[in-house]
Amino acid sequence: MKHTLDIVPLKSWLDTGDKPLIIAGPCSAETEEQVVSTAHLLANTGKVNVLRAGIWKPRTRPGEFEGIGSIGLEWLKRAKEETGLLTATEVATAKHVEEALAAGVDILWVGARSTANPFTVQEIADALQGVDVPVLVKNPVNPDLSLWIGALERINGAGIKKLAAIHRGFSSFEKTAFRNEPMWDLAIQLKSACPELPIINDPSHICGNRELIPYIAQKAMDMDLQGLIIESHIDPSVAWTDAKQQVTPAALSDLLDNLSVRRPESNNPAFEDKLAELRQQIDQLDDAILKQIGDRMKIAEKIGEYKRDNNVTILQVSRWDEIVEKRLQLARALTLSDDFATKYLELLHNESIRKQNEVMNTKPVAEA
Ligand code: PEP
Ligand code: MN
Repeated sequence: MKHTLDIVPLKSWLDTGDKPLIIAGPCSAETEEQVVSTAHLLANTGKVNVLRAGIWKPRTRPGEFEGIGSIGLEWLKRAKEETGLLTATEVATAKHVEEALAAGVDILWVGARSTANPFTVQEIADALQGVDVPVLVKNPVNPDLSLWIGALERINGAGIKKLAAIHRGFSSFEKTAFRNEPMWDLAIQLKSACPELPIINDPSHICGNRELIPYIAQKAMDMDLQGLIIESHIDPSVAWTDAKQQVTPAALSDLLDNLSVRRPESNNPAFEDKLAELRQQIDQLDDAILKQIGDRMKIAEKIGEYKRDNNVTILQVSRWDEIVEKRLQLARALTLSDDFATKYLELLHNESIRKQNEVMNTKPVAEA
């Protein structure tokens, strides 16, 4: 479903030319010296547009460092005066919004925990009424696209037209290499639901460690996301929060140098012709695949009728195991991943069962 957010283009409030928007800075503002010296090193790379620093930190357990508080806003102000970088911080209450705006913070963001709570988002939105400030909305901690769009709508409803989303990944029960699962399909779904909305990727919070950041940052560029927000600390080894995922300004500079930023479209007609031809082939194959799935379902319905007339259950586990085993072998030979093949077979099977269920619960015509 398409959503219409009433927003203005990113270029109109932060023009980065044909380069992605880069936001960088420490997870948390810790000391004046740390904020200001990190800001200078970041500004000197010439590759950073905005300085980030958390002033109020949402922590999982009480007793951890909960942010330096309002005093840090003064440090951001000084960093901005000395480096010319725009500044950004997280707001989670109406009071944070008022204080950040009063201190001249240029861009506000709504954190993942806040996005997950409509009461909090509404409180922030109400405090933003009548204010013209850019706001970035992180995805909620849980993989719920509507909650993400809902938060964007609430902020937009308060009259904020300089709006963007931040993709920071989703927490999952299963532990993987990532701190937060990227679930790219959700970012892509947001892009198709709100095509005009810029999306900025946060590889730091997705990865949870420095090593994977270049891989996720590149992937974000390949997905045509508009920018990156990356945590950078003058000395990550002593950072008070998120130490494992922060990079030095020098490392950030290298990382950005090594990114390939590809364009979504080309202006070479020969390339466009070839692309159109390949897309046509894909369309034809997609049509053929869907038709064959339709045919497969018709056979499943016939089996359903047959089972109904002979009083046999829908699910026969041994048959299903046999299907999965044989098809997974074929999928592997075709270099399709097990994950894809398993999910595909499960979807197909669920739809077959649904169809058979329909048939089994309809009486044969003669008895109706
Ligand atoms: C952060 O940006 O430091 C932060 C707390 O992020 P998130 O809301 O994505 O967890
Ligand atoms: Mn952080």
